[in-house]
Amino acid sequence: MSGYARRPEWLKLTPLNPAIVDRMRALTRDLKLHTVCDSARCPNRTRCFGRQTAAFIILGETCTRHCAFCAMKSGRPGPPDPQEGEHIVDAVTRLELRYVVVTSVTRDDLTDGGASQFAQVISAIHEYDADIPVEVLVPDFGGSFPALQTVAEASPAVLNHNVETVPRLYPEVRPQAKYERSLELLKRAKLLNSNLLTKSGFMLGLGETRQEIIRLMEDLKGTGCDLLTIGQYLQPSLKHREVARFLNPEEFAEYEKLGEQLGFRRVASGPLVRSSFHASEMFL
Ligand code: SF4
Repeated sequence: MSGYARRPEWLKLTPLNPAIVDRMRALTRDLKLHTVCDSARCPNRTRCFGRQTAAFIILGETCTRHCAFCAMKSGRPGPPDPQEGEHIVDAVTRLELRYVVVTSVTRDDLTDGGASQFAQVISAIHEYDADIPVEVLVPDFGGSFPALQTVAEASPAVLNHNVETVPRLYPEVRPQAKYERSLELLKRAKLLNSNLLTKSGFMLGLGETRQEIIRLMEDLKGTGCDLLTIGQYLQPSLKHREVARFLNPEEFAEYEKLGEQLGFRRVASGPLVRSSFHASEMFL
């Protein structure tokens, strides 16, 4: 099948509202910041930016990895910006944010994978207002336990790490990642700080089977994971992996129910659900 797969009715998106999107872009440009919302071409930007929420990406926009589903640029990243924490606090102030999501590309080029930058940003926000919960969506830090410890000790409210897909598809979809390593990260985060809410997410429509999805959800619950997001994979460009299947909203509702039966505290499952979609509501 060449070209983009034809989208079903429930995935026919209303065009982005340029005024709302441009306003957020102007602000982030002004503050030398990027949002993963824009970099990953998230379909929910009008809604989230319209509500003055956004997920900030630190450590630049160039990833050292090349996942088959991801719109982020791959290559040799530049050095981290030592003032990133300040810039994010400026954005928090100007957007009057009461919940902040911070994520990053994977930085295999940095000794600690960028963990100290995450800690610096969390501390900067807490210095500004200790009551603002910070959710961090972290890479796997190459499996480094000290790196994970650095982030966990900075007391984020939620530590999120996406497993993205089922283990059988890792070689094609996330070749530089390891399924067991991702599960181990979530398990260790809970061991490091049992009050820390852990979260993970994956996409559907990459070629996984129902049995594999159920097994993945059981594995995640086995790590003590509290929050779960499940969304439909959408092909960012013709260079990226094709959509194998569009699941209908009823199937997402079924996985949401299954997730609750498995004991997750909150499950957000739907075609347009993304890692930080409704993030503050899920936390609250
Ligand atoms: S590691 Fe993350 S940011 Fe990098 S290509 Fe993969 S999904 Fe994208």
